[in-house]
Amino acid sequence: MSERINVMKPWFGDEEAAAVAEVVRSGWVAQGPRVAEFESAFAGHMQAPHGVAVSNCTTALHLALVVAEVPTGSDVIVPSFSFIATTNAPTYVGANPVFADVDPDTGNLTAQTVEAALTPSTTAVIVVDQGGEPVDLDGIRAVCDPRGVVVVEDAACGAGSTYKGRPVGAGADVSAWSFHPRKLLTTGEGGMLTTVHEEWAQRARRLREHGMSVSAAARHASTLPPAEEYLERGFNYRMTDLQAAVGLVQLGRLPQMVARRRELASAYVAGLADVAGLRCVADPAYGTSNFQSFWVEVGPEYPLDREGLMAHLATRDISARRGIMAAHRQPAYAAHPHGPLPVTERLTDNTVILPLFHQMTEAEQARVVDALRDA
Ligand SMILES: *Cc1c(COP(=O)(O)O)cnc(C)c1O
Repeated sequence: MSERINVMKPWFGDEEAAAVAEVVRSGWVAQGPRVAEFESAFAGHMQAPHGVAVSNCTTALHLALVVAEVPTGSDVIVPSFSFIATTNAPTYVGANPVFADVDPDTGNLTAQTVEAALTPSTTAVIVVDQGGEPVDLDGIRAVCDPRGVVVVEDAACGAGSTYKGRPVGAGADVSAWSFHPRKLLTTGEGGMLTTVHEEWAQRARRLREHGMSVSAAARHASTLPPAEEYLERGFNYRMTDLQAAVGLVQLGRLPQMVARRRELASAYVAGLADVAGLRCVADPAYGTSNFQSFWVEVGPEYPLDREGLMAHLATRDISARRGIMAAHRQPAYAAHPHGPLPVTERLTDNTVILPLFHQMTEAEQARVVDALRDA
């Protein structure tokens, strides 16, 4: 029996283990100097003026909507075609998610789909770089900016992807990142909020730590700490120094991770080019993907449908995933109103995410390609 091929694996070396050991030996394991270092290194890498590390991307999205002052009862446009956290986030501030459809090539919101979903109560849009595919931000900002609609970028999957020559996320008012192991750069759990607005960053920094006026790290640094005040009701959304130490090493590996994923993606495209009925995700004209999720759309010319293909791959010990979910189809949103979402439904029904991880060998990839070819 052949070894099972997983859809994703994190890529760690001894350096991550050594970095964690050093933090343990230092005696300071909670949010402290390593978190501060990781924030500035990550924000610098992503060409964002400010970075605020948090416990995960979902909490980053929540804080993004709080600091952007998205009002309770207002409408926030989101793609249904995304991990459920994108849709849940507006509800955390009492806002109403409004589903917009996506582009058939990238799976992302477009200026047209956003415009079609606008209501008089729209205050924000959460755009997503789905699976690492960069969203075409400029057109969406051209729709939103004149109306005072805030653009939040859910760049959970996007570390290492580019839009018009810059890192994704850099062009939004505020962006949210994930360091879950399903993404490229991982800290186990973890997230980051980046923003161009200094006041938003300062407020997010306070809110992640209970709304405290002086951080625990700053109080610890002083023998006679200043008295702290709780300026507003906050949260505990902190990252630990243990995670940040791993994140710093992983950030250094990011260019290599992206290069390897792009190489493997090209090999998939070459191996599947002449298979009728399979369409591979590709770079859009305006940017480059990190291929966090390499998906194929299964068309009617292919001999199997999506479920049949997944079952076929499973018989070869190949673990694939159903393509990106559609939030409007989930029980949690069963009673939530929405307009027609034909592209979302087609993509969610007919896409498969193929195995792709840094350590994947040529032989492993050939097994996947062969399985897709001989279905
Ligand atoms: C993974 C993911 C999230 C959630 O990230 P967490 O760090 O697990 O909270 C949010 N949005 C998108 C698009 C994602 O892919």
